[in-house]
Amino acid sequence: AARAHRIMIQVWLRPGTQKAVASGHPWVYRNQIDPAAGDLASMPSAEPGSLVTVHDSRGRYLGSGFYNPRSMITVRLLTHRLETPDDSLIVRRIEEALAFREANRRPDTDSYRLVFAEADRLPGLIVDQYGDTVVLQVLALGMERWQETAAACLVEKLRPARLILKNDDPIRLKEGLELYQRAYYGDLARQVTIRENGLLMKADLDQGQKTGYFLDQKANHARLRRFCAGRRVLDAFCYSGGFALNAAAAGAAAVTAVDISPEAVTLALVNAELNGLSEKITFASANAFDFLREAVAKRQSFDTIVLDPPAFAKSHGARDGARRGYKEINLSAFRLLGPGGILATHSCSYHMPEPMFIETVMEAAWDARRTVRLLAVHRQDFDHPVLGGYPESHYLKSLWVEVIA
Ligand code: SAH
Repeated sequence: AARAHRIMIQVWLRPGTQKAVASGHPWVYRNQIDPAAGDLASMPSAEPGSLVTVHDSRGRYLGSGFYNPRSMITVRLLTHRLETPDDSLIVRRIEEALAFREANRRPDTDSYRLVFAEADRLPGLIVDQYGDTVVLQVLALGMERWQETAAACLVEKLRPARLILKNDDPIRLKEGLELYQRAYYGDLARQVTIRENGLLMKADLDQGQKTGYFLDQKANHARLRRFCAGRRVLDAFCYSGGFALNAAAAGAAAVTAVDISPEAVTLALVNAELNGLSEKITFASANAFDFLREAVAKRQSFDTIVLDPPAFAKSHGARDGARRGYKEINLSAFRLLGPGGILATHSCSYHMPEPMFIETVMEAAWDARRTVRLLAVHRQDFDHPVLGGYPESHYLKSLWVEVIA
């Protein structure tokens, strides 16, 4: 290890920029790197994807990872210990990730995120299990070299029917990676049926969002059930219907499900039929902003509303605009709810911190002249872990609010 350690390229940081990495953060941004220090001073065009050791401005070792000068996140660390990243480290990390899911599996759910990239200390590697199908996605150049190791390890340990390499996320282009999908093992299934909270759900692995399903919302889908019996429920931003179907299954009087994507609405309808719940659910392909505004204008009302929009704030700079977006839809939702009403409202933008999201939602309630109590704050399901030292891994906020008056 000592020898291998010496042949890795040394990247030195500018003075005063080491704090996050020294506290366990897995990223080094381009502007943290001192181009005139370490090995980069003599080899400024170090090979993209190569293994590097990261050092503070005085040369003290901070960790090891892989280098991609094309990316703003120029180094992703695999370890903060004095060890050389190799196949056995990758396998060990995968084993740890699988053991954590195994310990928390629920009997009525057969689909989980098995590896959540940086949050499982495997930067740029996503692995999702959809029943007997495993989907693997590489999002960082340096991880590509371990794709084979990871895939072989997963096939051996999980014995799936198929393992699909779903390397078609456009984010790969920024890393200098090509886009493709292929079966590493078994066939290239396009659609699979999974079981979540006892419901059958089709996941579209080919054209769907994420790798096919919003696994991060499983626990919140289940949480909705206790606020549904005999109630009129609205699921805005429904995608494939996770909230809507759980509401219908839990005895909602009527469910309305809205998404701007016609493909999503079609998928949600198929899922409703698959579970014999289609009679209870009305689907609409519409812009949820317009839908909510019109429902208010028409003086409609609901007893329980779910808002689960896409990330409005994709960067720190987009925060103010995002705040206005969240404010508007939450304001409309509160106008549609009376006393006893429940709002389950979500933000999956890391750049909208939890306190700011709570504040925004509470302001919306006030502006709608509603008195509310915050019942609970949840986050993404356990299989999208929150890693200490890496705050970006806590991205999904789930607020459960009751209208008192
Ligand atoms: N609630 C879903 C996940 C929602 S993801 C679940 O639990 O599985 C966000 C969804 O919002 C996507 O399906 C996207 O198509 C949809 N969307 C994006 N902008 C929208 C808009 N303006 N109006 C309605 N839906 C929108």
